[in-house]
Amino acid sequence: GRSMAVFTSGGDSQGMNSAVRSVVRMGLYLGCKVYFIYEGYQGMVDGGDNIREADWNTVSDIIQRGGTIIGSARCKDFREREGRLKACANLLDKEITNLVCIGGDGSLTGANTFRAEWPSLVAELLSRGQITKEKAHNCGNIQIAGLVGSIDNDFCGTDMTIGTDTALQRIIEAIDAVNATAQSHQRAFVVEVMGRHCGYLALVAALASEADFCFIPEWPPPTNWQEILCQKLHHTRSTGTRLNIIVVAEGAIDREGKAISADMVREVIKKTLHYDTRTTVLGHVQRGGMPSAFDRLLGCRMGAEAVLALMEMTPESEPCVVSIDGNQMVRVPLMECVARTQAVQKAMDSKDWELAVKLRGRS
Ligand code: ADP
Repeated sequence: GRSMAVFTSGGDSQGMNSAVRSVVRMGLYLGCKVYFIYEGYQGMVDGGDNIREADWNTVSDIIQRGGTIIGSARCKDFREREGRLKACANLLDKEITNLVCIGGDGSLTGANTFRAEWPSLVAELLSRGQITKEKAHNCGNIQIAGLVGSIDNDFCGTDMTIGTDTALQRIIEAIDAVNATAQSHQRAFVVEVMGRHCGYLALVAALASEADFCFIPEWPPPTNWQEILCQKLHHTRSTGTRLNIIVVAEGAIDREGKAISADMVREVIKKTLHYDTRTTVLGHVQRGGMPSAFDRLLGCRMGAEAVLALMEMTPESEPCVVSIDGNQMVRVPLMECVARTQAVQKAMDSKDWELAVKLRGRS
């Protein structure tokens, strides 16, 4: 059987454990040797105890846990060829030539670079006498399948990323909690959610929590947004509503590209309407807690598909990303998705936006 390794890299997200479990078990089922690489690329560069064989039971009892049991890290060394050379030597030591990378677009970009460089890394190790001719021959290529783990749903080429659904649950729970206290005190709450470049979480959370207003990077509000916001809030109060919820994405901007922060929104409301207004920045709470059923299933399905993809790859095959498209697992070229993700913002569903406006009114 082939040898493969799985690692998680970049920001963690709920459902990564489910994906790790699925990769391990599908790999074992197909007769492969499966390794964990702990601490992402750092573990690959450092080697030693960071690369350990997995068995069926090491992934028991992890599907319900948040985060990633094999650790994730950011790694400077892997950005340099010298670091990748060390990583290559460590993988060759165990004859690992199949990788499942679970991470965001940075991690997947790194994987692509590694794959492109691999033959030259092997040649260099051979010329330095660090590996045998036989090993260089047997391990001349590396196959890579990527899975996108990200709470932001910010990756082009997949309908959803692993962790988004759970983050959304956390946001909704938090807004519901804030709601109760806001009702009691007639407060306005400005809730900041994650999403530097992608407003998906903010928009769908606003839709699902009956927020009055929502600020996202994709659709900056009109230049007189302060006026529109206050008119809207004033109107809802005058019809008897006791609370207001405003959702702001981390990366929200105005039409000139300047940041709109939760604190700015609060100040506008306080100054103009004199409402008791509070900001809540949800931060890492959004990454916490147990993964939802959806993210567990997504991890299971994507992990298994990644292993099948690796089994079918030839040395010429380009790395792929396993995506969900129309509720089916599909394989798409990794570089195409990374390039699109870096060049354009992921297309938001404008129908969700229109629906949010219609159901709650944004004027
Ligand atoms: P994410 O995968 O969540 O987007 P990062 O962008 O921080 O997170 O990337 C995670 C890690 O992937 C980095 O710490 C680095 O080790 C590796 N990486 C990212 N971009 C590159 C790159 N262009 N070349 C090589 N490695 C990279």
